[in-house]
Amino acid sequence: MTGRYICLKMFAVSIVFLLGAGHQILPQSQDEARRRCGFDHYYGSDEANRQRSASESAIRAAIAKRRSESTASADGVKRIPIVIHVIHNNGLENISREQIKSQLRVLNEDFRRILGTNGHGDGFDTKIEFCLARFDPEGRPSDGIVRVKSPLTQHRMLERERLSELSYWDSERYLNMYVVRYINRGVAGYSSFPGGPARKDGIVIRYGYFGQRGSLFADYLLGRTATHEAGHWLGLYHTFHNGCGDDPCSSGDFVCDTPPSAAPHPGCKPEINTCSNDWPIDLSDQPQNYMDYSSDRCMNMFTLGQRERMHAVLTSQRRTVWSEENLRACGCDGGSYPDDLPPVADYLAVQRRICAGNSVQFLSRERNRPKEWQWHFPGGEPEHSSDRNPVVRYDRPGRYSVSLVVKNDRGDDQRQTLDYIEVTDPPRGKPGPYAQGFETEDNVRQDLRIDNPDSNTTWRIDSVAARQGMYSFVMENWESDVGQRDDFELPLLNISQLGANVYLEFDWAYASADTLQTDELSVMISRDCGFSYDTLLLAFDDELATAAARAAYFVPESHDWRSRRLALDDYRDAEHIRILFRNVTYGGNNLYIDNIHIGGRATDIAVETRRSMAPRVFPNPFQVTTTIEYSLAREQVVTMVFYNIAGKVLHREERGLQAAGIHQLQLDAEAVSFIPPNGLMVLHLELGGQNFIKKLVVRR
Ligand SMILES: [Zn+2]
Repeated sequence: MTGRYICLKMFAVSIVFLLGAGHQILPQSQDEARRRCGFDHYYGSDEANRQRSASESAIRAAIAKRRSESTASADGVKRIPIVIHVIHNNGLENISREQIKSQLRVLNEDFRRILGTNGHGDGFDTKIEFCLARFDPEGRPSDGIVRVKSPLTQHRMLERERLSELSYWDSERYLNMYVVRYINRGVAGYSSFPGGPARKDGIVIRYGYFGQRGSLFADYLLGRTATHEAGHWLGLYHTFHNGCGDDPCSSGDFVCDTPPSAAPHPGCKPEINTCSNDWPIDLSDQPQNYMDYSSDRCMNMFTLGQRERMHAVLTSQRRTVWSEENLRACGCDGGSYPDDLPPVADYLAVQRRICAGNSVQFLSRERNRPKEWQWHFPGGEPEHSSDRNPVVRYDRPGRYSVSLVVKNDRGDDQRQTLDYIEVTDPPRGKPGPYAQGFETEDNVRQDLRIDNPDSNTTWRIDSVAARQGMYSFVMENWESDVGQRDDFELPLLNISQLGANVYLEFDWAYASADTLQTDELSVMISRDCGFSYDTLLLAFDDELATAAARAAYFVPESHDWRSRRLALDDYRDAEHIRILFRNVTYGGNNLYIDNIHIGGRATDIAVETRRSMAPRVFPNPFQVTTTIEYSLAREQVVTMVFYNIAGKVLHREERGLQAAGIHQLQLDAEAVSFIPPNGLMVLHLELGGQNFIKKLVVRR
């Protein structure tokens, strides 16, 4: 029965691997609340929270100052220039200018409470409005839209700065708004709070929520994600911030006239009252406030208190953005500007330093709709290109310049950058295969490079659990701060001699703290000396968990371990690869890694550190024959059981007491009769009381 249970569970995990993490375009009702906005999650780390607390003091001081000077009633309209950065991968997320303009219109309807629109609701005119910039930071005419093609359109909040690397205009002068295809956790958008680092300033919104896309009855297609996020950008919290709080003014969302609210109100709530500490009288909650999580069609108001707070931010932390001088420089002074403009030549290289023999991906930052591109790459291959986003190889060490000419019907523009790309000679990697079983401290210290930016809890050897041997590598997410990353990197390796079927294999065990608190593991590889990395694996939620969630310090049992094999076929000629394991903490639970192994079929026999290896099956999937390999640290009893997908025993093989060392067993699909017609089997291997599970796939 135990075998059956493990077997079925194994399949549950495998199916998730096959399908990958499915993305939903729109939130579903059961977790709408969690997905409406990523602001609370983004500011979940202690460091970010400290920064936000410092800003909060500055905002309170500005409010006090305004009240003492009684300038509030004299507030004129403040206008904010916006630049829209569309980060796309040539998909639907490369939204039209019309959609962008509809978003600007909705923002102004809502913030100015325009008569005859949804924005003309129960609240007040905030006297704040928004304008698509008509000049860039260098004073060149612009339509206020920058388009960059990049896989980073699948955005993760943790990588916020990488969006700014793709495109960013001075945040003292512009509100930077990014449109992306997807944001992790499925959130619709999120914003920075005033007073944070410039390179993280601005708003990120998923394309499906950007602009007015649907009818009046659509829940989230009316462009109010941007209204909500602009509220955060101007210093507003959620109406349910800190729940009911102690006092409606000095706690909760720090705004006196928004009734305290115990929780968000997704959808369209009728009258509801979750807190009774309102002052001077108990009021109903305000789901129609833009800073709640209601459907777009059911939110329609900012209060006077929220207006005061936003103007306080605009007269303190964000005072430069709406200054008359800046509005003139950005073309937001009310003048009329043509839509048809000559293009601006602008670009970036994804990698500016590479090893000789590698390639650079150039990305054009499309501005004012260029139609033609003429690149020149002296010393590169190709030397000329008319692609929008060319890839160029550099074979010899040196520094190389780049130039680009862009054209459209209105004119052309040119830009050149001297010594833009630096190409270095690669160092030699240690010849593979490679194995790391985390059995000795010295070996780990010698081989692995740990990167621990917060100098706090990080990867370490521990004997509380091991897949094999005595020790494994553990990252105690249970103890770590939210938002922290912790990396370890294998030594520089030369895998070019490993032949075909080069792979990376490792064992891991993980349980989340609860279903909403899961951490992330990624495995990345660099073939250019660590200048850039490809992601081989990004696992979280069900794909990462090997055991049930628990609200206690996780220590795996032997049956909680899983193995993962990642093909390195794309890198098999590489003479210098780096492999990086990255853990990102989101307040989850402990992650254990053991038995990292890099090898290939041709050279498997020669691996020296056999002892720490998990059993392996190669090739897998296989056509006719495959090899099952396991190693024994000492003499042990070995049993193999094959199950079908339903957990039925197909074949049992008692191998008895076997000597220490490496053992291999050939499985020939034509010689045995137990292989099921669908070609899927699970092998349960018991080595002296330790259990291992492998999925076998026969493709005939
Ligand atoms: Zn929010």
